[in-house]
Amino acid sequence: MPFAQTAGQRARAALKDARHTPYWLAQPARPEPRPPLEGQTTADLVVVGAGLSGLWTALRAKQRRPDLDVILLEGGRIANAASGRNGGFVAASITHGHLNGIERWPDEFATLNAMGVANLRGIEQTIEEFGIDCGYRRSGELQVVTEPYQLEHAADHVRMATDHGVELSLWNAERTQAEVHSPTYFGAIHDPEVGIVDPARLSWGLARAAEQLGVRIHENSGVEALQPSAAGMTVRTFGGRVETPKVALTTAAHAPLLKRLNLFVVPVFDHVVMTAPLPADVRAAIGWEQRQGIGDSGNQFHYYRLTDDDRILFGGYDAVYAAGERPGSHLERDDELTARLVQHLHDTFPQVADVPIEYAWAGAIDTCSRFSAFWGSAYSGRVGYVIGFTGLGVGASRFGADTLLDGLFKERTDRTALKMVRSKPLPFPPEPARQLVIDMTRRSLAKADEQDGQRDLWLRTLDRLGLGFDS
Ligand SMILES: Cc1cc2nc3c(=O)[nH]c(=O)nc-3n(C[C@H](O)[C@H](O)[C@H](O)COP(=O)(O)OP(=O)(O)OC[C@H]3O[C@@H](n4cnc5c(N)ncnc54)[C@H](O)[C@@H]3O)c2cc1C
Repeated sequence: MPFAQTAGQRARAALKDARHTPYWLAQPARPEPRPPLEGQTTADLVVVGAGLSGLWTALRAKQRRPDLDVILLEGGRIANAASGRNGGFVAASITHGHLNGIERWPDEFATLNAMGVANLRGIEQTIEEFGIDCGYRRSGELQVVTEPYQLEHAADHVRMATDHGVELSLWNAERTQAEVHSPTYFGAIHDPEVGIVDPARLSWGLARAAEQLGVRIHENSGVEALQPSAAGMTVRTFGGRVETPKVALTTAAHAPLLKRLNLFVVPVFDHVVMTAPLPADVRAAIGWEQRQGIGDSGNQFHYYRLTDDDRILFGGYDAVYAAGERPGSHLERDDELTARLVQHLHDTFPQVADVPIEYAWAGAIDTCSRFSAFWGSAYSGRVGYVIGFTGLGVGASRFGADTLLDGLFKERTDRTALKMVRSKPLPFPPEPARQLVIDMTRRSLAKADEQDGQRDLWLRTLDRLGLGFDS
């Protein structure tokens, strides 16, 4: 009789033939690269970075001001970074969750919530208007409770959010398990204002939409330098140069063109695995008919969802930071961490223990200490940026883009009046203190998860200062 496999052996066996590349980017729908920028040209606006933030900035600029001549420069390929590697949860929240928003901006939270809901509607309308085939559906999200101590927190969460005008409901264990058959659930918070999408196909669709409106897109055109000039700014790439009065930076976790952003943003690597398409009997054994996005409630949380072809994407838990590492780092492959993620998938759904893992990958998250995007400018307002989405930017990037354009074109809007928009996060300390502080915070968060959510002195101090670390 063969020996029974341990959980670790089962996880490694499932990973045996996995491709270490993002599933979303490996699809045949990936378009050919647009040609790089060559020679000298001019534009009214140059957007740097073709992730979702840059794509929305270029598209919204043309929708708001059709006469603008807009160029979008991407150093690699469209959506090659976070935007083509993420979980594809499209949340209405623009504050990295309701509680983060309520805690930081209690007076304006109702407005922030309404703007977030309107932003989600704007995304849905754009997908429909341009016929973007990206598997979007308003699935809702379940934040599942996987430890009894989390039940009280979940009830408080729903009460607090409801008091601030957010429509959430609390599901008990029976209701949650009836919907999605995992033995780990004690209940869930249901949020209807969340969708799921294939983020790469959304990005490619937005690029096409922007081009339809006249945006010029160049891939493999990394911007090496920005310099003030008679026209405003010179934007230089390896092969070309653009003279422009306005530059929008949307470069997330990459080395920033404005060095000061290093104070506020750290790249944190988040890992994901994806199963093969589930056989029909396994799919039936899980239920999950409404295909909600699911996240669990620990500090070190997992997120998971189904794809159109019934694979499970399962990510999160460990968020890895190492001084000096940027997108493309060796931290994007970590076999031990990936195997642990697969074990957690098997704990959540024992039904999939024999389904191979076909893809495993990671991406860098632009983490800031307030967890939600911030904005700013340089060169007397000729250069603007949005950055710091901290792992919840698929939906919020459209709001981020509009706010960036408000600032660049000096338009006063409901957005520019917001405290959230007018303030910045607290900076991280410089190295080597930064690495120490982040490691200490990660250890404390893991300990809190093991000790029924009890936050130690370090976390309580950070809480009091409004500081945090999250993916
Ligand atoms: C593993 C993972 C899971 C996630 N899951 C979710 C989720 O489920 N839901 C959610 O809301 N968010 C999620 N996120 C976050 C989300 O992906 C991003 O916030 C969102 O896609 C917005 O990204 P961005 O455009 O700001 O950055 P990016 O997608 O990183 O784009 C920045 C672009 O700028 C380019 N660039 C950088 N420097 C230069 C330069 N000098 N010149 C030219 N180009 C340059 C880069 O090549 C890159 O393409 C996740 C992120 C990761 C990594």
